[in-house]
Parts: sequence; structure tokens; C-alpha cells
Amino acid sequence: MDRHSLDAMLITSPKHVYYLTGFATNPHERLLALVLPRGEEARLLVPALDYEAAQAASSVASIHTHQDTDNAYEILGRLLPSGMAALGVEKDDLNVNRFEAVSAVASASSYVDIGLPLREMRAVKIPEEVERMKRAVRLVEDVLRAGVSLVKPGVTEIELVAELEYRMKKLGADGPSFDTMVLTGPKTALPHGSPDERKVAEGELILFDLGVYADGYASDITRTFAVGEVSDELRRIYDAVLQGNLRAIEAIRPGVSLGSIDRAARDTIAAAGYGPYFNHRLGHGLGMDVHEYPSIHGKNEDAAIEGMTFTVEPGVYVPGVGGVRIEDDVLVTASGVEVLTTFPKTFVSIGG
Ligand code: MN
Ligand code: MN
Repeated sequence: MDRHSLDAMLITSPKHVYYLTGFATNPHERLLALVLPRGEEARLLVPALDYEAAQAASSVASIHTHQDTDNAYEILGRLLPSGMAALGVEKDDLNVNRFEAVSAVASASSYVDIGLPLREMRAVKIPEEVERMKRAVRLVEDVLRAGVSLVKPGVTEIELVAELEYRMKKLGADGPSFDTMVLTGPKTALPHGSPDERKVAEGELILFDLGVYADGYASDITRTFAVGEVSDELRRIYDAVLQGNLRAIEAIRPGVSLGSIDRAARDTIAAAGYGPYFNHRLGHGLGMDVHEYPSIHGKNEDAAIEGMTFTVEPGVYVPGVGGVRIEDDVLVTASGVEVLTTFPKTFVSIGG
């Protein structure tokens, strides 16, 4: 608030309310708001039906409620300081209607976006957050192991997705952190392909990309396998991606630019002859959201900071032939990097 000369901050995204207070809820279309006036006590405004849960979980003592029959923004207006010169708001979270409702009751002279400082805070994890992420990683790796054991010629992509997502909940995850992806054969060359009734067949690749939320934190892993024997070309693609993944991980330590980590993978894959087929960024921040700040791409010259967690997921996608992606979740440590994912990534053939 000092840096941006704010009189108060208004936090409205449920994840940031959770991050700052410990109270997690999905308010749907109802208003959830954390008011942080400079130099005064924090106030939390929750739907009345959430009052008990907020009292139990929130670190904020001053909890206010609105009923479904109330104008929630009028109540919000009474919780905001009057005569504000600048109010910090999450512009990403406030759509035009919500912003108009806020500005009608806040009547601040200016509204300053606090999205970036919040994202920067979240990018650096404390040990408790890392422990939650490790649990999410352990869970998804158990699910992946189970999924791999079900691969055999004739089973469909969508059947494998159903089995994987069933096991996520059964093993204790909150749920998938994104739509589980199982792709086979030439479809592995589609970085954002959709699983369907296509059947696993020998001589092809199979790509699993999946993650879970556990205790509010996400994991995200991709492994690619051969089903039976595959061509020498698919094997070469696999080796290029694996080397790219390993070189990128070796490049991680505090202070290096995030772009240099991307380039370590990209240069390795280009040297193997597949540069044009690595057509996306190296990775993305990972935490309370499965995609969050920072973005790990070749032009991001921001520095890696101890405590950051992100994915390293180089891929090579040759249309009509097949694709390989190998995705790990990593933590920047004082001395370098800790790879949170432990699932083996040497080339293996399954289901044959
Ligand atoms: Mn993924
Ligand atoms: Mn990812």
C-alpha cells in the first residue's frame, strides 16, 4: 500500500481471500470481499451462509455478512474508508458490472490494479505451501502409476481419463486441477488435444497430462510412453525432449533469468533438429492455480527467486507423426532446484 500510495485494498478473488485469510469458499455470484484499510483492522465481508465457516478458518476477526436479500455493495461501502484518493482493486477479478457497483459505493478518486503485487507474493512459496504441493504431486503420481498399469491395446483414451479421475478422488485429492489429458498415436502431436474414443494401439505413443488439487494446491505432470515397439523417429523425438527437460532443470538457480531456463531447453531441442516443433513456452508458475505467475518463456528476463514453483514442460510435436512432452514441477531453492515430481522419465514401453 505504501509503494502505490493506497488508502485501502479491496481483495475480491476467492483465491486471494484464501491466501490472505485462510478462509476458502466458492461464493459463486455472491460478493466476497476482504477490505484492508491502511493502518486499520482488516474486515471480511462474506455471504451470511458462510459466516460460521469464515469464523472458524479466517485469520481476520472482523467478519461482516450480507443476506441474499441485501444489496451487498451497500454493506461493502460502509466497510471502506471514506474519502479515498486511491483504492487498490483486482482488475482481473472485477468485471465491468462489479467494478461499477464497487465504484458507486467506494467513490475513490482512482483505482489501482494490485493484481501484479498479489501474483508476485503468491509466486514465492513458504515451506507449508511447498508441503501441500508435494502432497498434490505424490497423489497425482500414484494416479499416473495406476493409469499406466491399465494401458493395453484396445482401451480408449476417454476410458483411461475416467479411470484416472476416479482414482484422484479415491486417493484423497480435491479433484483434477484441469481436464485430464490422455492422447494416443498422431494425436500426441496436439499440445491441447481432446481425449476421445480413440483406442490404444501398439507401435504408437501415449501421452498423459494430469494434475490434482490437494489442500488448495495444484500439481501438473506429463509423461509420454511407447506402447510396444515404436519407430526410431519417435524414439529420437523422445530423447530430444528428455535432454531439453534435463538441460532446463540444470539451468535453474536463484538469479538466472526465467528466459534462460526456457532457452536451455529450446537450444537443446533445436540442436537435435526439432526446434520448429517445440511451439510453446517452457512452463508456467504453479501453486494455488495450475497456471499462475510467472510465465517461463524465452523473452521473460525476470529472475528466478528462491521459493518459486513452476513447471518445466518442453515438447516436440511433429504433425501426423506424434508428439512427446515431459513435464516436471520444480522448486527454486537457495542452492539451485528441487524437482518435486519423481516419476521416472527414461524412455519406456508399456502395455505391449
Ligand atoms: Mn500439464
Ligand atoms: Mn503445465
